[in-house]
Amino acid sequence: MAAPWDDVLRDEPAIQEAASVAVDAALLEGVLMRTEGEPNASDVVNYAPFTLLPSAVPSALFEQAYAVQQDFNLLVDAISQNKEFLERTLASTIKVDDFTARLFRIHMQVLEEGLAQSVFLGINRSDYMFDCGVDGTPALKQIEINTIAASFGGLTSRTVAVHGRVLKVLGKSKEASRLLPNNPSKGLALGIAKAWELYGSQSAVVMFLVEEVQRNIFDQRCVENELWNRNIRVIRKRFRDVFEKGSLDDAKRLYMDGQEVAVVYYREGYVPTNYNQQNWEARLLLERSRAVKCPDIATQLAGTKKVQQELSRPGTLERLLPGCAEAVARIRATFAGLYSLDMGEEGDKIAATAIADPDRFVLKPQREGGGNNLYGEELRQVLEKIRDSPERTSYILMDKIKPQPAMNYLLRAHGPLQVSECISELGIFGVYVRQGKEMVMNKAAGHLLRTKAIEHADGGVAAGVAVLDTPYLV
Ligand code: ADP
Ligand code: MG
Repeated sequence: MAAPWDDVLRDEPAIQEAASVAVDAALLEGVLMRTEGEPNASDVVNYAPFTLLPSAVPSALFEQAYAVQQDFNLLVDAISQNKEFLERTLASTIKVDDFTARLFRIHMQVLEEGLAQSVFLGINRSDYMFDCGVDGTPALKQIEINTIAASFGGLTSRTVAVHGRVLKVLGKSKEASRLLPNNPSKGLALGIAKAWELYGSQSAVVMFLVEEVQRNIFDQRCVENELWNRNIRVIRKRFRDVFEKGSLDDAKRLYMDGQEVAVVYYREGYVPTNYNQQNWEARLLLERSRAVKCPDIATQLAGTKKVQQELSRPGTLERLLPGCAEAVARIRATFAGLYSLDMGEEGDKIAATAIADPDRFVLKPQREGGGNNLYGEELRQVLEKIRDSPERTSYILMDKIKPQPAMNYLLRAHGPLQVSECISELGIFGVYVRQGKEMVMNKAAGHLLRTKAIEHADGGVAAGVAVLDTPYLV
């Protein structure tokens, strides 16, 4: 998987020149983030971290990831409509994981009341690594699918231009012209616009539900701008605004400050720290409403690690997608080994195996946002402590994926310019819209490549570990 610029990696003057061009290009193109010190003001901004050079990605695996995205969209949508499957799959988890349990309770309450929502919008991102087999052939293996607040579709639309410039500066114009155009923010916005249109009220707005701390606002603004360009009004609100000013009318139409809301796009609400009692009440209000939630709470639950693990059991995909044998085969081909830690013989056995050989596995709790997984010695210690307690059912075990590292420079504001051994994770954005039972849109909407130094086991761009990248197909 060598990239055709490994020759320049050690040419220090050339790298230094390219890095200063890269940083200015990133600022010009809008690859931006607010600063840690002032996360809610745009007076001072910085570039979002990115690689100096694009990373090599095997084109066959890249195509495979795109080809399976519509299947994953169908799968997530099918799970979200399958009350029995979610109930059965999450039964052990919600006994020990309070966060998943609270989400699940809202899901059940909304179903009991009867769904007011009839248009459904899914925006997800399926993430993969390239597992290096014994013979050195890389294989596409899914890390997870993010069904809520999947980010960086905006900023990554702007990294291609930056990397194109860097390659030209380094005398690689031919390679620069081979970088693929990529615009997930447009694809995401087309999905939101479709849902807004089907909701059917010209005067209704799209509400971005955003976090208290908004460092990654420019990523969201990219999607927002696409909507404004289509003359769709966007408002940005937090849970506490919804708690204070949100209401439902008799038909469960959602109003904020007197404005009807057609679509709620969550960039918030995916981790326990996003919630206090008021925020939970606000979430319930939104879920009860007729507005199109992206995602609705059932789709958020479909993205839990426990669901991912259950999907890998023989027969599960076939039951969820009957009559779709080809889609099932494409999906299954991307699965790494996933194991349940539910109480019983199966769980006892895999726990013992992982304790004996922790480097083969990753231990994952039901959390999103990076930095929660356990590896190696830490995995062994934690699993040993909880192996006989029901607490272990709040985790799943997964085979550790081992990609082939490559050298690159990770550019971070105020960071040193030094070469690192890196591995990459490819994400494909999926967008779909369903009206009642009919799928009216089902697309792959672009990609995201994130790269990190191998010494970090875990963590995304927002967590400060990975950086934005652009794939160079080889
Ligand atoms: P989160 O929801 O916190 O993003 P992920 O499942 O995506 O959880 O894991 C976070 C990070 O941990 C990934 O981006 C990847 O770098 C690493 N990781 C996760 N699963 C594996 C695995 N099976 N093998 C190797 N690395 C993994
Ligand atoms: Mg992840």
